[in-house]
Amino acid sequence: MVSLQLDGRTVVVSGAGQGQGAAEAGMLVEAGARVIATDLAGDMPSALAAASSTSTGALVYRQLDVSDSAGWSRLAGWIQSQGWRVDGLVNNAGITRRSRLLDASVADLRRVYDVNVAGSLLGIQSLTPLMGSGASIVNVGSVAGLTAHYPVAYTASKWALRGLSQVAAMELGPRGIRVNTVHPGFIETPMTAGARPEFRHATLAETPLGRTGSVEEVAGVVLFLLSPLSSYVTGAEIPVDGGQSGHGGAKSVSDAMR
Ligand code: NAD
Repeated sequence: MVSLQLDGRTVVVSGAGQGQGAAEAGMLVEAGARVIATDLAGDMPSALAAASSTSTGALVYRQLDVSDSAGWSRLAGWIQSQGWRVDGLVNNAGITRRSRLLDASVADLRRVYDVNVAGSLLGIQSLTPLMGSGASIVNVGSVAGLTAHYPVAYTASKWALRGLSQVAAMELGPRGIRVNTVHPGFIETPMTAGARPEFRHATLAETPLGRTGSVEEVAGVVLFLLSPLSSYVTGAEIPVDGGQSGHGGAKSVSDAMR
């Protein structure tokens, strides 16, 4: 029986303290999963408190900096000590730097890569030994990784993450482990709360659905990719962007011709 229910499955979510990660953790718990929510803070962030009190699944919180390989090893060791295996991993943690091409520093580039690319690689390397056939990994990319989005370090990191995802899908497929990527567009989170009005306005002009997205709209696609309903989907990339990336820049032309 295929279903969106994740009863009996253990899923690790990185960067789950707020924004999309918190929504993903909450929805996965509602779907019956045991969620290991991780983030930088030592104690469980308040955005996760509501999810932890639901009676359907279960939520535990662990501190983890995704760019710290020793931290991932500790997490894997702790999961093993509980006698659990891992059925899902959501590499959601991500940071941005908004500097442009001629101002971006190598330090910016390295830090964004450390979190967005190396963090996801370390997650895959650390947790796949605890996964069996049927496990699913979801990497959180961005429309930046499908386009020439102007913050160059962030954009380059999300393009790199696409490469990592495709190699992982190929290498882990024979073990029955699926790897897919979601590419959010403009989603209302603390990350985008500080975006300049010009950025919001220009992005909406490029978005056929004409609105920003909610964290739940990303979490629903992540849940689908972790569930048996997507059991033959691997190496796929799903934009969750209101159509922003699909028109390849043709929307302004179409709008001009109305
Ligand atoms: P957010 O900034 O609101 O939340 C990100 C979370 O990641 C925070 O809780 C933060 O503490 C955590 N984090 C940061 N660095 C970390 C590290 N080194 N180790 C562990 N956790 C760390 O961001 P969000 O908008 O919820 O974004 C989530 C993901 O979605 C990111 O990968 C981001 O690049 C991607 N994304 C977001 C949007 C958007 O419009 N919000 C669009 C495209 C892609």
